[in-house]
Amino acid sequence: MAKPTIAVLGRPNVGKSTLFNRLVGRRRAIVDAVPGVTRDRLYGSAEWTGHTFHLIDTGGFVTSSGDPLEVTVRHQAELAGRQADLILFLVDRQAGLSPDDQALAENLRKLDKPVLLVANKVDDAVHEPDALGFYELGLGQPLLISAASGRGVGDMLDVVLDQLAWAWKDEAAQTDAIGLAIVGAPNVGKSSFLNAILKEEKAIVAPEPGTTRDSVDSYLHYQKQTLRLIDTAGLRRKARIHDAIEYYSTVRTLRSIDECQIALVLIDAQRGFNRQDRQIMGLVRDQGKGLVVAVNKWDTVQRDADTMGAWITEMRAAYKPLEWVPLVFMSVHHNRRVWKVLQVALDVHVETRQQVSTSALNKFLADALGNVAPPATRGKRIRINYVTQVHSSPPLFAFFCNHPRLVPEHYRRYLENRLRAQFGFTGVPIKLSFRQK
Ligand code: GDP
Ligand code: GDP
Repeated sequence: MAKPTIAVLGRPNVGKSTLFNRLVGRRRAIVDAVPGVTRDRLYGSAEWTGHTFHLIDTGGFVTSSGDPLEVTVRHQAELAGRQADLILFLVDRQAGLSPDDQALAENLRKLDKPVLLVANKVDDAVHEPDALGFYELGLGQPLLISAASGRGVGDMLDVVLDQLAWAWKDEAAQTDAIGLAIVGAPNVGKSSFLNAILKEEKAIVAPEPGTTRDSVDSYLHYQKQTLRLIDTAGLRRKARIHDAIEYYSTVRTLRSIDECQIALVLIDAQRGFNRQDRQIMGLVRDQGKGLVVAVNKWDTVQRDADTMGAWITEMRAAYKPLEWVPLVFMSVHHNRRVWKVLQVALDVHVETRQQVSTSALNKFLADALGNVAPPATRGKRIRINYVTQVHSSPPLFAFFCNHPRLVPEHYRRYLENRLRAQFGFTGVPIKLSFRQK
């Protein structure tokens, strides 16, 4: 089941970012690596009483053209309308009701999404009556919080979860579906790919039961497995506001990667492999998700027998981690290897769950150490005594040794390469942790 998405809206300075940081805390996504979006506070996930949800701070969306506030506010509402299941509309108790609040409320009413009015900066009981004026917005009684101190935030979240109860209701039913995120820069062919696979009979496109959201996933039966294609609707919808395209696709990308088990990163062969592609792959690796790369529009490339090999070599040289990532060259237009991509994604999914026995790992370690001994660092001899796989999805290996901090980077890489050579983990980011014995 997709996690619900909550958008925090409000005019500048009402405390959106303060609330966002309180809810998301250190788990917020740092996204300024992505071109077009320089603010790092626009997306994250948060949890309350065991329920996880996505949070979008629309204040992170800055228009480039110095638009008047009214336009910015309208854009915020539009973006939130596209992406959120619930809107937290923040107003400022200190400042009181303003015409911008009125304008935003007007736009929100048109959205047909649940809106919770939240009066912020109610730092103590004395100020509670000040919030009465917000009744005029016609959005009911405001919830009273202080984002800065946390006062009332728990009660607010209880109301939020209540409104979103549908999202967790059928959670158990869908847990065996494998979440696949289809991501990539704009125009690489993501929605074409999606449409190609959903066109065939094998596909089932079912909106989630009991939902009002229009950002639905699709479910697809393939090779006796169920794949959940994350945020199908979001992929099909193109942003109408020019400025919003980067913002919109960034939020979608982050959210999809967060929810998936396997991320399929599409690249445009016509345009070539570039920095933005690498950044998206970096996000997938950071999140420890399975990774498959499909080079699309292969039909546009002048090819001979060596072309594919040359591309693979070049891409791996430009981005080292691609050495363990499966690359598929496809053409959605010519229906070439479209299904192969899904097969590869399923293979990677199996790899993410691989659990290697401690005995096999220690045999591996003895061989690896015998082949290349750890170097002496600062006059100290490093001894690695044993290794165990702490968990899978993503795999984490703990190496117990006498001087964990002194294990040099190149030796870590050596061990990772040997691990991969022996056990596979194709398409899976693995972590090595060196610990004191
Ligand atoms: P944004 O522009 O809506 O993201 O607003 P910010 O989160 O940046 O907050 C604007 C200002 O309001 C900052 O100076 C915050 O410290 C202050 N602020 C935020 N929440 C509270 C609160 O609960 N109480 C008080 N007194 N100030 C707050
Ligand atoms: P998205 O923004 O990633 O969802 O990309 P779209 O699916 O909208 O595709 C962008 C453009 O690339 C459209 O004009 C598609 O027709 C075109 N396109 C998609 N797949 C292929 C392909 O395999 N070959 C060629 N030549 N063009 C493609």
